[in-house]
Amino acid sequence: MKLKEHCGIVGIYNKQEAANYAYLGLHALQHRGQEAAGIVSTENNQFFEHKGYGLVNDVFTENSISSLRGKIAIGHNRYSTFGDDSIANIQPLFAHFDMGQIAIAHNGNIINAQSIKKKLVDEGAIFNSNSDTEVIIHLIAKSQKETFFERLKDALNVLKGAFSLIIMRENEIYAIRDPWGFRPLSMGKLDDATVFASETCAFDLIGAEFMKDIAPGEVVVAGNDGVKHFNDIFDKIDEKKCVFEYIYFARPDSYLWGKSIYSLRKKLGETLAEESPVDADIVIPTPDSGVPAALGYSQKSGIPFDFGLIRNHYVGRTFIEPAQSIRHFGVRLKLNPARDVLKGKRVIVVDDSIVRGTTSKRIVKMLKSSGAKEVHLRISSPPVISPCFYGIDTPTKRELIASSHAKEEIKKYTTADSLEYLSLKGLQKVVGNSHYCFACFNGNYPVEFDK
Ligand code: AMP
Repeated sequence: MKLKEHCGIVGIYNKQEAANYAYLGLHALQHRGQEAAGIVSTENNQFFEHKGYGLVNDVFTENSISSLRGKIAIGHNRYSTFGDDSIANIQPLFAHFDMGQIAIAHNGNIINAQSIKKKLVDEGAIFNSNSDTEVIIHLIAKSQKETFFERLKDALNVLKGAFSLIIMRENEIYAIRDPWGFRPLSMGKLDDATVFASETCAFDLIGAEFMKDIAPGEVVVAGNDGVKHFNDIFDKIDEKKCVFEYIYFARPDSYLWGKSIYSLRKKLGETLAEESPVDADIVIPTPDSGVPAALGYSQKSGIPFDFGLIRNHYVGRTFIEPAQSIRHFGVRLKLNPARDVLKGKRVIVVDDSIVRGTTSKRIVKMLKSSGAKEVHLRISSPPVISPCFYGIDTPTKRELIASSHAKEEIKKYTTADSLEYLSLKGLQKVVGNSHYCFACFNGNYPVEFDK
């Protein structure tokens, strides 16, 4: 089965006990992946690694962190719904090749990995994992160019799709975003150290100062000669940042591509209130992801905000559960109604997205059985009609309820009294320019999928 990954990555260059900072960074990025975590560090040409399944807290102990020596470290949180659970798939991947050692942490999905891999295997290559990331190491090792940088350039130019990468060698770190810039990657400063992370919330935790977002197609090298930026690696840059990072995936306290996620999500809620008003007594969010949009909806409409659903914070995101039967259960496990808030009320419930429709259906049922008189579903993104091939875990087209059902049918399915989505125009107005990938909402894929 195909691995679907959308993950969190960190890198620290030139800091005593770098692995400690990587560990903290991974904590801040836990929402981007809860299946597995790993850190690789380096000192005196030796690499040290520790990886495992589960949350960052479960994977690392004081002992394992202190065994990760050196002033350079990279880390990875993995989020994956399918795939074989071999430990070899846990990142950062680490390998020896003719130029020394290399470790790599990847966020995104390389859509032509299968065909690259097939070619390499036909030529005699042996793969250790079934992750798309391993092809990058092979491509670097196979390139005939003289310098590592030239080889890296060769390899990167073969790849199609989403790859925010942090690569570590004995004395340097490379931070890279693909020429479409699908997934985020930011750069910061901590005293004399250079740090990289998927999201700025990781910088806040370790006390680093945000410097910049790595640009689409940019390669940043932090090494003995300082920090260098290269923007001439790819022939063509075609900026298509993932808008779903804004809608759901990134943490609301992060700043992404020049915008506060929290403020942007509130604005989505305000726009939704303008587009689709309805008479009601309270606005409640689906916690946590629907909170900023629900606040925006409430403030714009003047309808009071309340918490009608209480979240159990010790349960992971329901979406991670692989089987539909478990997912049904998962919603109940995660959310419980606050009956007193709901009784006899006309309720507007705001969520960030409908994917399969399972959550919405369960929630409407829960609210109604807790005494809500009416339930109006408001979704702060357009209908998800197409799967993502660039690293957001959306299911196949068949499973996406809006790919085959009209709004009215979805309303019926969820048993809501009304259902409205944010319009694509409304979303585009809030995000501000056209340099985004909207494929999940309009089916326009910026890079052809490699079958
Ligand atoms: P569903 O029950 O399949 O309709 O899923 C919708 C819920 O899943 C919403 O409450 C979203 O907040 C959440 N969600 C949307 N996209 C994702 C994703 N890629 N990974 C995990 N959860 C998601």
